[in-house]
Amino acid sequence: MPVTEDRQKFVYDFTEGNKELKDLLGGKGANLAEMTNLGLPVPPGFTITTEACKVYLEGGEEPPSMRDEVTAHLEALEERMGKKLGQADNPLLVSVRSGAKFSMPGMMDTVLNIGLSDESVAGLAVQAGDERFAWDSYRRLIQMFGKTVLGVDGELFEDALEEAKRAKGVTTDVDLAAEDLKALVARFKDIVAKETGRDFPQAPREQMDLAIRAVFDSWNGDRAKLYRRQERIPGDLGTAVNICSMVFGNLGPDSGTGVAFTRDPASGHQGVYGDYLQNAQGEDVVAGIRNTMPLAELERIDKASYDQLMQIMETLETHYKDLCDIEFTIERGKLWMLQTRVGKRTAGAAFRIATQLVDQGLIDEAEALQRVTGAQLAQLMFPRFDEKAKTELLGRGIAASPGAAVGRAVFDSYTAVKWSRSGEKVILIRRETNPDDLDGMIASEGILTSRGGKTSHAAVVARGMGKTCVCGAEELEVDTKQRKMTAPGGVVVQEGDVVSIDGSSGKVYLGEVPVVPSPVVEYFEGRMHAGADDADELVQAVHRMMAYADRMRRLRVRANADNAEDALRARRFGAQGIGLCRTEHMFLGERREMVERLILADTDTEREEALSALLPLQKADFVELFEAMDGLPVTVRLLDPPLHEFLPDITELSVRVALAEAREDANENDLRLLQAVHKLHEQNPMLGLRGVRLGLVIPGLFAMQVRAIAEAAAERKNAKGDPRAEIMIPLVGTVQELEIVREEAERVIAEVEAASGTGLKLPLGTMIELPRAALTADQIAEAAEFFSFGTNDLTQTVWGFSRDDVEASFFTAYLEKGIFGVSPFETIDKDGVGSLVRAAAKAGRATRPDLKLGVCGEHGGDPESVHFFHEVGLDYVSCSPFRIPVARLEAGRAAALNGKGGSDSR
Ligand code: ADP
Ligand code: MG
Ligand code: MG
Repeated sequence: MPVTEDRQKFVYDFTEGNKELKDLLGGKGANLAEMTNLGLPVPPGFTITTEACKVYLEGGEEPPSMRDEVTAHLEALEERMGKKLGQADNPLLVSVRSGAKFSMPGMMDTVLNIGLSDESVAGLAVQAGDERFAWDSYRRLIQMFGKTVLGVDGELFEDALEEAKRAKGVTTDVDLAAEDLKALVARFKDIVAKETGRDFPQAPREQMDLAIRAVFDSWNGDRAKLYRRQERIPGDLGTAVNICSMVFGNLGPDSGTGVAFTRDPASGHQGVYGDYLQNAQGEDVVAGIRNTMPLAELERIDKASYDQLMQIMETLETHYKDLCDIEFTIERGKLWMLQTRVGKRTAGAAFRIATQLVDQGLIDEAEALQRVTGAQLAQLMFPRFDEKAKTELLGRGIAASPGAAVGRAVFDSYTAVKWSRSGEKVILIRRETNPDDLDGMIASEGILTSRGGKTSHAAVVARGMGKTCVCGAEELEVDTKQRKMTAPGGVVVQEGDVVSIDGSSGKVYLGEVPVVPSPVVEYFEGRMHAGADDADELVQAVHRMMAYADRMRRLRVRANADNAEDALRARRFGAQGIGLCRTEHMFLGERREMVERLILADTDTEREEALSALLPLQKADFVELFEAMDGLPVTVRLLDPPLHEFLPDITELSVRVALAEAREDANENDLRLLQAVHKLHEQNPMLGLRGVRLGLVIPGLFAMQVRAIAEAAAERKNAKGDPRAEIMIPLVGTVQELEIVREEAERVIAEVEAASGTGLKLPLGTMIELPRAALTADQIAEAAEFFSFGTNDLTQTVWGFSRDDVEASFFTAYLEKGIFGVSPFETIDKDGVGSLVRAAAKAGRATRPDLKLGVCGEHGGDPESVHFFHEVGLDYVSCSPFRIPVARLEAGRAAALNGKGGSDSR
């Protein structure tokens, strides 16, 4: 047999593809193929692959063999349909449709009716027995082709169409007769000639080839590029092109076009959801040119087609095992399927649909977990605007950071700060924000910008701060000089007017919209029960999904909580312990003075006095906490932040002392304090005297804290409680530091045991938050019974930047340039920080096989990071109480995904 060169295949008939081939055929093409193979009525056609697009984008030319393949497929199609593309007396017409792996605004719009020309329009009229229809199709072709392929301003055609209707005295396009449309075609051709300097192409194949090329080019259009960056879709996927033989919904009242969902994308309920428009083509149904009818009415107009459609919808749901959305056309009573895909849905519907599909036996629990995300759950937990409230919508932008915020409009940072100081709630409105706006952003309830996308400064910083943000609301005109914002339609918002912004939907309202608590939070708080007869359907669905996740997950979930109140909430939310209790929060308020005394102590006696004043207070805090978390582990971190955080501000104090000196009544204590502040002042406090270093240079400090923990534990034990305290040392860089602390701690614990007559088991471990600690984890594990990865500090020290200093200054630029896909403080940087975590976990366990491993940075509540920690084999993640449900769900999803051996979806 002769060896033939294995040529790449660039064109696939609809019968050759399937739904798994989205990378190659795009979403639309893959699903058209799937429907074809299911035996559904899809007009025949073929798909040009994304690979062909890639070749074109790289070299500026279609791969040479592609043209031949297109010719071969076209000929086969012509054969099958019994007519040739653009054939004068009986033309085959096709649509040219873009379709990438992910559907993307900005890609080329579909061109319908390709193959019509001055010649074949007459043939079409004869074949269809309808002259009006033929000219209507032709004018649509010139209009769509002119706009999307030749780049003519679409309004020129719209205006001409309006003009034709006005001249005739009618209001809709269906009222135009064949003669009117004929004249309109002439007019449209003039527009094309004038605007492009060439005639509308008459050769059918040329029309098709130009349209294909235009689809390829649209991959790199500005809007498409912007969207990809925002949604983090890789820029090199390319788009496929679908060539689909035309079916006609504009052949009279027994024809039409429609869209439908197999169930309600807002509630998840099964039923008949969709719209239908008689005597119309393509996008007419969603373009709002005429009033559509609810899909249910189709039953009355064309029962046969309606019944068939319902049957097909059921087939699709059962086949895709998910909500599908579809596009269809009816041509003279014959139903055609033009598109389907797994449909978008609201967060609430995602939960409901997942459980419904389990009930229907279509999917199992593990699969159900893949149908929802932690981000969706988080969305359901934000307080939201009351849906029943009357609202006045001003406009909408990009939902950049979720939440519902209400406040007075301010247009600069200075006013935001000033007004918020006097107790006003404000919304900061800017065209876009920059680092100078930081104070204003902090002072505001929410941020609204008219420019920029999901990675703009406003969006990044707001998400970092957990503030509500709507960005890129382009239809709102922001005039910061005049301090006003103008909405489409002319409504003006002046400084001081109240506005409400919804960071989950991107909507902006005039006036105060009432905010209601989320039922999902009410449920987690235990104020609403999933079992109750009148339980909210959404709450029931969330309850069930959480149960699936809890059954499935291997990772345990703990909370970062510093007091009994947070601890109790965490417990209600499902926390299985506290992963991080920060003791510094116990040294604030009135107790700050005692810390001051400790810092100022000149003699051992003074220091011991200060420490013994703090001891009972610390102990009381711990007793409360251990009681709240009875039976569950509580990891207490010894004092971590630089001491100067407990001292007065250096400038304020200097001024006070200077003024007092001028009055000649300088206060001895203030002078000592000022000296201490000067002494403790650091250029880089984050890298200064803090963490374990404090414990080693301030005699007795850590011993006092350990004693407070031990005594609290002993007291709880003697009260028949079950305290499970763990002592955690922060900022360790070398095992020697830990050994010294451990020796002292063991001595103190032994003393407490003897005095209280109880045996105490208090594991002692360390945070791993410095690269050196991670790199010497094998040694550190000799002295540590557990590791808790402090991924916030670890990220800062691995990257060499401090979050507070840099997030507002250059992260936007980094995100825009694609250096980060996402801030490393939001999602763990797997390659850098993550690889240290992985290595340290392995090395630590090599030394001590039962070493317990956790993480207590904010990443512990971030979905993608949770998956990573699962995969690395940590025992638990710890996050803020509010993120616990998200972490539980994602830990379940990670386990379900791994169980199936699949890979993570986007
Ligand atoms: P989009 O990606 O914007 O949904 P489509 O390629 O689905 O674009 O096409 C736009 C409209 O044209 C849709 O209403 C679709 O159903 C319709 N359409 C596409 N191809 C054909 C065809 N061959 N015959 C009839 N209508 C078509
Ligand atoms: Mg479509
Ligand atoms: Mg730290």
